[in-house]
Amino acid sequence: MSNAIDTVVVDGLALANELRDELKQAVARHVAAGRRAPQLAVVLVGDDPASASYIKGKQRACTRVGMDSSERRLPADSTPEQVLATVRELNQDDSIDGILVQLPLPGDLDANLITAAIDPAKDVDGLHPVNAGKLLLGQPALTACTPLGIMEILRRFEIPLRGADAVVIGRSNIVGKPVSLLLQQQHATVTMCHSRTTDLEQRCRHADVIVAAVGVPKLVKGSWVKPGAAVIDVGVTVVDGVLTGDVDTEGVQGVAKIVTPHRRGVGPMTITMLLQNTLTAYEARTGA
Ligand code: NAD
Repeated sequence: MSNAIDTVVVDGLALANELRDELKQAVARHVAAGRRAPQLAVVLVGDDPASASYIKGKQRACTRVGMDSSERRLPADSTPEQVLATVRELNQDDSIDGILVQLPLPGDLDANLITAAIDPAKDVDGLHPVNAGKLLLGQPALTACTPLGIMEILRRFEIPLRGADAVVIGRSNIVGKPVSLLLQQQHATVTMCHSRTTDLEQRCRHADVIVAAVGVPKLVKGSWVKPGAAVIDVGVTVVDGVLTGDVDTEGVQGVAKIVTPHRRGVGPMTITMLLQNTLTAYEARTGA
């Protein structure tokens, strides 16, 4: 008789849809009370097709939950001053609750400079130094969307975090660092790994939770995973035209308790958390 674990492959889209229904109801309650709907403004500099498609997806997601969205498009050869002027205009527009500048920016435009110009109260990507600092200090803050989505998946699947050993692979500002802090806030003991970590496999073998945010296809093998661990695959890489994650999803079957697939896993939750952040910003700004 096999004692293999019945691994749950997380349906991130189904989870995202559940959350979006809850958000839709929250927005509807505000509108029914005579208030305006929350509004997200997206800024696209240049005409990168992938970025254009991402912002369309985000705007569609807004519409589906009853939020308003607006778009500012700027040419790829825009100067920093032109982009900053657009951001400042959105900062001053009282009807806008969330501002998202789609990254990466073209040419020499400095993403740090532009991000730092966003009003922290409207920073729905959670990347402004004030919000990143508040997260570090454990204060309420708008927090990066992918880490929030990861935490929501762990919460919904009742993965115990208090006292758990968590390994986060990747130390980016957008995923690795914030998710490490959020896991720590939930009392996990977090090991942050990166490209210079020497014994990644051994560290993973002891982990109750693994978050892989690297961009190296199938880096995390089934043999690296402790039986019953929760494995969150954030990575998205295209290999020979095929989308691939950081985890060998087949290899962890029968070993992990849960695994998020690279398709319909963390991705839909990321967009949902952007909507959640827009609602949070709206409620904080309007006092509603
Ligand atoms: P990044 O490129 O900024 O950082 C990658 C990190 O991985 C770095 O900290 C680096 O030290 C580490 N790394 C690189 N090679 C390594 C190795 N061999 N072993 C251990 N660590 C290694 O990455 P990012 O922006 O955090 O994105 C990571 C991945 O997640 C990418 O594939 C990206 O496309 C994907 N991503 C997905 C979503 C989503 O919503 N699904 C959101 C954000 C990022």
